[in-house]
Amino acid sequence: MLNVSHLTKKYHRFIANDNLTFTVADGETAVLAGPNGAGKSTAIKCIAGLLRFDGEIEICGFKNKSIQAKQILGYVPEIPAPFDLLTVWEHMEFIARAYRLENWEDRAKQLMHRMELTDKKDKLGKELSKGMQQKISICCAMLIEPKILLFDEPLVGLDPHAIKELKLMLGEAKEKGTTIIISTHMLDSVEGVWDRVFIMMNGRIEAERSRKQVEDSGENLEELFFSITERPSEKEGEK
Ligand code: ADP
Repeated sequence: MLNVSHLTKKYHRFIANDNLTFTVADGETAVLAGPNGAGKSTAIKCIAGLLRFDGEIEICGFKNKSIQAKQILGYVPEIPAPFDLLTVWEHMEFIARAYRLENWEDRAKQLMHRMELTDKKDKLGKELSKGMQQKISICCAMLIEPKILLFDEPLVGLDPHAIKELKLMLGEAKEKGTTIIISTHMLDSVEGVWDRVFIMMNGRIEAERSRKQVEDSGENLEELFFSITERPSEKEGEK
């Protein structure tokens, strides 16, 4: 369960996240949707505990910067940052040691197989393509079997096989009760995956819908998205 309460993040005087309050339940997959610059990455980084912010963020009841929260949080950043001089397999080993995992080897091999990294296991981080680096990030995040999974634009740069596998993995994690948060600027890329969507614009959540609400009302989510993200902003109106 993720609880975000009055999250505000400023970069100097610029407000990138403006008083965000939302909850994502156990086993629920939420999408933070919005155009470039809406504040999605900033929110994900705040939840991951990487930025200072005002407000409160709780991960399964723990403050997000606590050790207890970090132990159950998996984060796949928008820009992968593998260690240059560790091999693919050593990344798995590093995560396993850092999180004190036991009997992790078979799971690591299975994840690497699903992301088609098995034949790259001895390659160094710096020798991998951007897509392969992204796949390592995914394997590292999934290896710890987190209770909360954060994905920042996860499908950008992945090949079709990896996209298919990742969507399967997300379904499996959800079945186990994992809370999943995905940021994306392309709503159709997460079709069939989400239970709840938050549409962001100018650092604010402008609309929230559950899948059931959309299905019951027959509302067109794409139209809602564009009606929010393409309306003249207050700032533009002031010019
Ligand atoms: P999104 O992920 O929706 O594309 P971001 O959260 O990356 O949006 O950015 C939101 C806003 O915050 C943008 O206007 C961006 O320029 C600004 N921003 C992001 N990171 C920084 C930073 N480190 N310093 C200053 N401004 C930033």
